[in-house]
Amino acid sequence: MQQQIRTTEEWVVMTISLLGAVSISPFMVMRLLQGDWLIATLDAFAVFAMATIFVYVRVRRKTSLMSHLLALVSALALLGTVELRGSEQVFWAYPSVLAIFFLLRPWLALAYVVPTLLIIFPVIFADMELTRLAGFYLTITATVGFTFVFAFRTRQQQQKLLQLATTDALTGAGNRRALEESLLQAVAQYRRAPVAMSLILLDLDNFKLFNDEYGHEEGDHILTQVTRIIRQRIRRTDNVFRFGGEEFVIMATNTKLEEAAKLAEELRKEIANASISHKKVTISLGVAEYHGDETGFEWLGRADKAMYQAKASGRNSLCLDHH
Ligand code: GH3
Ligand code: MG
Ligand code: MG
Repeated sequence: MQQQIRTTEEWVVMTISLLGAVSISPFMVMRLLQGDWLIATLDAFAVFAMATIFVYVRVRRKTSLMSHLLALVSALALLGTVELRGSEQVFWAYPSVLAIFFLLRPWLALAYVVPTLLIIFPVIFADMELTRLAGFYLTITATVGFTFVFAFRTRQQQQKLLQLATTDALTGAGNRRALEESLLQAVAQYRRAPVAMSLILLDLDNFKLFNDEYGHEEGDHILTQVTRIIRQRIRRTDNVFRFGGEEFVIMATNTKLEEAAKLAEELRKEIANASISHKKVTISLGVAEYHGDETGFEWLGRADKAMYQAKASGRNSLCLDHH
């Protein structure tokens, strides 16, 4: 079986669950030896839950539910130990808060952490000296604050980088990497629940002439305008990608061949009638519906073949692949 590279989420959940289970285990043993059954049971619960989460993510490689569970276990373990053994256990709040911020989105983590810290307040208030209590809440608030800001900034940067890595800089359409990812996802989705979907591949006609005659900048302008027209015309659920220099791919979900052909024909007309450049800009298009028994690249290949037929039949036209 081919081993895929683990995602960052998998590593985070696996590391935290393993570290948690390993670091709580000695305490469990110690409590057992001391005959402190209550805390030993709580520790055993935490160790068991974390070990299970570790194994589950290692084998099944699904993290969304497990990150929530692990955050919940971290919060509950803190609550339990403080409720049962009082304020002396309160230093567990620091790793517990950090673990929760590693596991969940910043706002969600905050929604776990703040109530937890409020719930333990009465217990700590009851048996901690006031200056120490103030010290604890000040330091834990600072820790939560720093961690939140750090997590928030990191997440923003991550989203920005992801956007840069998947977007074509000139046109703002998805790039080739995004297209490949989308094809893989669409095919996997189809295997789970088959819903008709189609690809439209389009290529600008005689684009080299525009570049040669009016300059590269005019060429760039045309590419941007064509993308704008496509964007305005397609559905919110459809995606457009810049596949090569002057080739674009539209992935139309929930769309049969005939419907996609209608969309393609409308695009062809709209672009031919738009005043984009000094001369008429036209496109040739190929359309192919996914047939269930092929890879995403084979599917794309059929759309490409259809597009070349459209070129061969005189350009500014459209061909369908009926496979
Ligand atoms: P056909 O109708 O057969 O598609 O002819 P064509 O001239 O469009 O096709 P060809 O593949 O020969 O030329 C594509 C041209 O697209 C070549 C290149 O100069 C131009 N091109 C590719 N990327 C860019 C870009 O980012 N900006 C500009 N301005 N031109 C580009
Ligand atoms: Mg071309
Ligand atoms: Mg081309």
